[in-house]
Amino acid sequence: MTAPAKIAPATLAKLAKLGIHHRADLLLHLPLRYEDETRLSPIATVEPGETAQVQGVITHSEIIFKPRRTLVCRLQDNGDELYLRFLNFYPSQTKLLAVDKKIRAIGEVRMGYYGLEMVHPKCRAVGDETQLATSLTPIYPTTAGLSQATLKKLIANALEVVQAPDYLPEKFLNDLHLQGYIESIRLLHTPDMTAAGLADRTHPSWRRIKFDELLAQQLSMRVHHKERSLRIAPALKSKGHYTKALLKALPFKLTRAQQKVFTEISQDLTKPHPMQRLLLGDVGSGKTIVAALAALQAIENGYQVALMAPTEILAEQHYLKLSDWLTPLGIKPVWLSGSLKKKDKRIACEKIASGETMLAIGTHALFQEQVSFYKLGLAIVDEQHKFGVQQRLALHAKGKIEKSVHAEPVDGKTDKKTAEPHQLMMSATPIPRTLAMSYYADLDVSVIDELPPGRTPVITKLVSDSRRCEVFERVRAGCMTGQQAYWVCPLIDESEVLQLQSAQETYQQLCDTFPELRVGLVHGKMDSSEKVSVMAAFKTGQLQLLVATTVIEVGVDVPNASLMVIDHAERMGLAQLHQLRGRVGRGANQSLCILLYQKPLSELARTRLKVIFENTDGFEIAQQDLQLRGPGELLGARQSGVAMLRFADINADEDLLDHARIVADELLRDYPEAARGYLHRWMANKHDYLHV
Ligand code: ADP
Ligand code: MG
Repeated sequence: MTAPAKIAPATLAKLAKLGIHHRADLLLHLPLRYEDETRLSPIATVEPGETAQVQGVITHSEIIFKPRRTLVCRLQDNGDELYLRFLNFYPSQTKLLAVDKKIRAIGEVRMGYYGLEMVHPKCRAVGDETQLATSLTPIYPTTAGLSQATLKKLIANALEVVQAPDYLPEKFLNDLHLQGYIESIRLLHTPDMTAAGLADRTHPSWRRIKFDELLAQQLSMRVHHKERSLRIAPALKSKGHYTKALLKALPFKLTRAQQKVFTEISQDLTKPHPMQRLLLGDVGSGKTIVAALAALQAIENGYQVALMAPTEILAEQHYLKLSDWLTPLGIKPVWLSGSLKKKDKRIACEKIASGETMLAIGTHALFQEQVSFYKLGLAIVDEQHKFGVQQRLALHAKGKIEKSVHAEPVDGKTDKKTAEPHQLMMSATPIPRTLAMSYYADLDVSVIDELPPGRTPVITKLVSDSRRCEVFERVRAGCMTGQQAYWVCPLIDESEVLQLQSAQETYQQLCDTFPELRVGLVHGKMDSSEKVSVMAAFKTGQLQLLVATTVIEVGVDVPNASLMVIDHAERMGLAQLHQLRGRVGRGANQSLCILLYQKPLSELARTRLKVIFENTDGFEIAQQDLQLRGPGELLGARQSGVAMLRFADINADEDLLDHARIVADELLRDYPEAARGYLHRWMANKHDYLHV
């Protein structure tokens, strides 16, 4: 019997950094890649770009000082030579790599200044008897001060001492042709020479582990979802007097899709458990009116509503639009943003705290400490992907403070539990199917899958910056015939100052070139009232051309604007381009979006421009974006809030994801012990995050 290895406290701390808190976690610390030390390549045959193991005698060894201290050695095998180069090295390495020593080196070959070389290869001394490895060498993800050798030893020990039952019932193993758990783990840590599909992770052992990971994710999402149904929220009945009045006053009829999603939301609100619903709809699909209807249902029941938007421009626009819609019903929204004057802020806060106002609209200032709601029943978050985890946490906390004061008995029973508000999140950044099925599986999702009638698709043109003058001319001609246009200035390495500067310069240039046009400028550094008056002037047609930074990216709705120029489009991401383009094509006029790009284009930029040029459907664009960037970035705010998948790739492993969804339901229903085992094995360290 092997005893569990003793682990020093310093090592424990390093393991914790890698997310390893229990001995069993070591088993799931799987190799990043494998090195092949089972064979030797003659130096004569190695080529730049390949990773190879070579063997030979050191014929030269020297420390050079230019450009910086470097150990350079020459390794010779059968008259052929290869250089070994080390920028950081220890005296022990200098000794190991002394002239006449016989050395085995493994590393990536590249073409260096003197010829073929390896930088920082793994080297060891060999004798005549030294055997080749008989299996591939796993290389583990690690952290500073924790060597591969230590990790390997600890993992080998864990493989001996840890009880690792296979929680997956036989039935599924057979049905899905999956390999055993411990068998898979063992193989991935100590693969034999013949194992194919290790590098690209298609080997049956990898498939089994990926399946388990996806299954654990599904289970935890479902548990989280279920746990929500045990919490309490006010039951907001659909009474209809406000909602019907608004619908009657609107100049348009809801689309079938808008009706469908509002029904879903409305039903959720009537339940005494907090709704957490994501409303997805492409840019321009008409989410705002759905939000307004949801707000009215809460207000009909005497509960307050908070509507939060990520930018001041958008929040202000919502404020104006909802004031328009709701004032006739006797509901006057209150506006709250960080840039409000102290006194006005205080007045707004008082109205919110006393319950005088039923609807508060603003930026994330709404969820700052000094704001306290009288009776919050529904929180609506627009463009939720733009908010960070911190802000979502604040929102969550805000609900909790209120609920203790205004908890109402549910179903007539007095319950010690306290109520929290319902949550409606809206986003125009569509979530590709695989993401929705995995990372977002704990939310309920409603999708608006059609645009209001009468929209003409936007025409997109790609134009090189060398033809800038023609674009200027096109803008002028458009404006002269009554069109309104946006000119969106580029992102500059995330620097707001430079971005501002470029916007101001472009603004000046356009003013100078076209003295006959009424040109406006809007950017993030302007104070709130200035922004509002510029946007209002554009909306009413006083301004014909609006030069803007990417502050107008989300939400801005000026239906008469039908021409958009996106300067340096090659610097922008796909989601951003799609959002920006969505600012036009909102009215009946034919709209045009010109993507001005500067050469030379990187491969990625070229692909992005091609995708945005060829597609108008937000879901298709998001799908391509997922492929280009991977889920990490696309998840944005949610990224740090949800346990990321380490092994499975939701695109490549879509079939496993589908199976995992089905098996998760069956496990929870018929094999609760197994489900618990899975959650413990995979999620024990991560469960906290899931509540954000
Ligand atoms: P988004 O989903 O991008 O937030 P908005 O809510 O801003 O879209 O709506 C875009 C435009 O479409 C607005 O001018 C809005 O008044 C209008 N709109 C919304 N629903 C309809 C509809 N059913 N019929 C016609 N126009 C509509
Ligand atoms: Mg919107």
